[in-house]
Amino acid sequence: MRAALYYGRQDLRLTSVPEPEPGRGEVKLRVHYNGICGSDLLEYYDGPVTTRSTPHPLTGVQNPVIMGHELCGEVVALGAGVEDLAIGELVAVEPVETCGHCLYCGLGQYNHCPQLAIQGYNRAGGLAEYTVVKRRMAHALLPGVSALQGALIEPLAIAWHTVNRCAVSAGQVVAIHGAGPIGAGAFLTLRRRGVEAIVIDPSPARRAALTRLGARTVLDPAACDVVAAIRDLTAGRGAHASIDAAGGAQAFAAMLHGTRVDGTAVVVAIHHEPVVIPPFDLLMPEVRLTGVALSVDAFPPVIAEMARGSYPLEGWVETIPFDAVIERGIERLRRQQGMKIVVDVAGQSGRPAVAASEGHRGESA
Ligand SMILES: [Zn+2]
Ligand SMILES: [Zn+2]
Repeated sequence: MRAALYYGRQDLRLTSVPEPEPGRGEVKLRVHYNGICGSDLLEYYDGPVTTRSTPHPLTGVQNPVIMGHELCGEVVALGAGVEDLAIGELVAVEPVETCGHCLYCGLGQYNHCPQLAIQGYNRAGGLAEYTVVKRRMAHALLPGVSALQGALIEPLAIAWHTVNRCAVSAGQVVAIHGAGPIGAGAFLTLRRRGVEAIVIDPSPARRAALTRLGARTVLDPAACDVVAAIRDLTAGRGAHASIDAAGGAQAFAAMLHGTRVDGTAVVVAIHHEPVVIPPFDLLMPEVRLTGVALSVDAFPPVIAEMARGSYPLEGWVETIPFDAVIERGIERLRRQQGMKIVVDVAGQSGRPAVAASEGHRGESA
């Protein structure tokens, strides 16, 4: 089968590898779509970061490894002991394998499992015609949710967890610094929860995309004093919570200073440089500064929200052919072109978006 194998920095090869078969408790998927993520760019240009040159303790996987962790596939084979999924069913993959018996797995905080293996880095990923996942990694889509929508569940789950970390409620205000896919997903999630958003991004294309999605307050940090603007919009107090989905020093500072006293500042972006915080900037406002470790228990609610139409994809999600993953995917994202780029692994862009849903509806338990 065709697969995109990561060998090391700027060395991703489209090649042919043996098809995987499911073991006990596993599910084999024919991959429909796989999105490209900022963390893939980090791995490609600055890695190895998450991939390994020695076997991963949980999976035994080391480079070269098939990349891709934002995927939707169709169940084509079930390993022994798996009886609650049907052939033909579409699933979104939660791309984490965990040990299942450590302190954090026991507490339900499986995203903090010290042995955590990420699919696409520490086990074979979704940039391949077929992939095999553990049963608990596969989340069945609801009727009417397309395979392309299914490939967006993973980044939207990160956005969902990011919004949970904000600890805000309806009527409050959140400043989102960075209007990439995670920023857009956070905006849509906040809107669904009745929370006001102030969106900040230097890219005219991204600001326009968020405006089309319905964002009412969208700021250009090159054209205004962002912190002053946020304070103006919040009776002088600052946002109840702020999200750093940008990853630069300027956005981080604006996030911290635009958050109100005792508010929450959430970093979801991967910073390529260490963050410097002047001590009093954190001491005096008593802002709660926190991070986001993937997501936890977010796939089922995000799939439900997708089914009810909370996450329109128009204007910010595009598909490219498998062959073009480097040139039209990774390299364009590096140049800040495009927003969410999803690889059409099965080559079905011309076909109906919910082609597989008949089997999905007919055969699911
Ligand atoms: Zn991702
Ligand atoms: Zn564990």
